Amino acid sequence: MASDEKSIIIIGAGFSGLAAGIYGRMNGYNTQIFEMHNQPGGLCTSWKRKGYTFDACIHWLVGSSPQSPHHHIWKETGIAGGREFVYADEYCRCEGADGRTVVFYANINRLERHLLDLAPQDEKTIIEFINGIRMCAAFNFPSDNEPLPVRLRKSVATFFTFMRYANSFRKWTKITGEEFASRFSDPLLREAFREIWIPEFSVIFMLFTFAWLHQRNAGYPIGGSMPMSLALEVRYQELGGVLHYNKKVARIITTDGKAAGIRLVDGTEIAAARIISAADGHATLYGMLDGKFLDTKTREPYEKWPLFPSLLFISLGVNRRFDDIPVTVSGITYPLVEPVMIADKMCDRLPVHIYNQDHTMAPEGKTAITIMLESDYEYWKKLAEDRNLYMQKKDEIASLIIRLLEQRFPGITDQVEVADVATPLTFERYTGNWQGSFEGWLITPENAYTMTRPMAQTVPGLKNFYMCGQWVEPGGGLPTSIMSGRRLMKKICREDGKQFASSDK
Ligand SMILES: Cc1cc2nc3c(=O)[nH]c(=O)nc-3n(C[C@H](O)[C@H](O)[C@H](O)COP(=O)(O)OP(=O)(O)OC[C@H]3O[C@@H](n4cnc5c(N)ncnc54)[C@H](O)[C@@H]3O)c2cc1C
Repeated sequence: MASDEKSIIIIGAGFSGLAAGIYGRMNGYNTQIFEMHNQPGGLCTSWKRKGYTFDACIHWLVGSSPQSPHHHIWKETGIAGGREFVYADEYCRCEGADGRTVVFYANINRLERHLLDLAPQDEKTIIEFINGIRMCAAFNFPSDNEPLPVRLRKSVATFFTFMRYANSFRKWTKITGEEFASRFSDPLLREAFREIWIPEFSVIFMLFTFAWLHQRNAGYPIGGSMPMSLALEVRYQELGGVLHYNKKVARIITTDGKAAGIRLVDGTEIAAARIISAADGHATLYGMLDGKFLDTKTREPYEKWPLFPSLLFISLGVNRRFDDIPVTVSGITYPLVEPVMIADKMCDRLPVHIYNQDHTMAPEGKTAITIMLESDYEYWKKLAEDRNLYMQKKDEIASLIIRLLEQRFPGITDQVEVADVATPLTFERYTGNWQGSFEGWLITPENAYTMTRPMAQTVPGLKNFYMCGQWVEPGGGLPTSIMSGRRLMKKICREDGKQFASSDK
């Protein structure tokens, strides 16, 4: 197989694959992306039903503020330009059965006052939490595109901030959402903190999220996910990148310990000097590479680390507005009259995300709403052995959810115009993500070291092969996926003895 030395094949046109392509083009590489789906974005997607847009991804985009050290990646990749961001005053609200409501305000001072009013007996834990957010807000990270003197000054300042908070920082990385929630004596606060964070996920990320919300640096982009994915596609193609849709990669071809090309499911073989997989990690290592390039370290995550859960994602188009419900980043949750089994999980409350922050998602006077519930991949896999049973269960769930919404929003049953149910298998089918996980690896106390020592983007024993995206960046997320593609292209430039270059759109 012949290939020119600047040629790079990228598998997957999600955020990280497109980022690798964009930065590859900026540095003079001949990139081709092969994507199995017929559109860009991977998990960063939405779909349309009867005039409604149902969004499966963006709640908050870290780096939305022009002051943010992350903002330059959005300028470089063509996402920032002309995009309007909404900064909700509330992250979410958790309504209690006792008539009280916990409001997770984005503003730290307001949040502090509210939590103390609500549960003065938990003052110590509340103050600890608020101080944790203030600690995260104190970091002023250097940005890659700033002039060297500014970068140096900020690096020194970040070092001292880190030294100042080292113990506290270490402490927070070791506390999981579940452990932290259990410290509150007030039952509603305990429940609310359990609701807002994944039980095994390290609390340090919750603190950073609140710090960014407070700084108005984690906005919601009007139009949601898909316009951002399309902007990336445009940027890549404007830079001269080649993109092939409906091309699923079956194998990565290797010869003598070197990656040499790819084979598509239709049997076509394409050669390149370098191959990057920005697709699912498990499918890459255990499928496309046949499990041949694994050592203990590469295997460890797939054998030990917990994943962001797979989801049952219910979307409804409702013929009404919800002007009485405050705009939030991630919705409200309310207690159910009695616990109910939804698919494989017993639920005693329902989280609802009402898209009243973005009226482009529904026809005039109407509203899109989504409900995101954890659901076990294996449960759905088993059910799907009988297609009729699988489809029947999805219909049952749509009806059940509408009945449960009726408890909180009387009359809604007659206002629902369209219902759509996506299961973990839907996420797997459209994006290839292992076990339908929605964001890859959780950061837990066991793998928190990856925050300072990133995972390798190469595999042992195979030259000219690289990985980027959420499967080599614990914690996942859109900025991380972009930075992963960028980090990789810097590495490739270094290998070729070139200075990495980037430019704003
Ligand atoms: C419900 C939900 C909410 C989220 N909320 C947020 C949020 O508010 N903020 C945020 O920053 N992030 C959020 N995320 C996470 C974010 O969407 C992901 O972390 C990010 O999109 C991952 O990008 P990626 O490029 O690494 O992977 P993916 O998006 O998974 O891209 C991989 C691509 O590879 C393609 N592919 C796979 N296998 C093959 C193959 N064999 N051949 C060819 N192509 C292949 C796939 O089709 C896909 O396009 C959310 C995700 C979900 C699902």
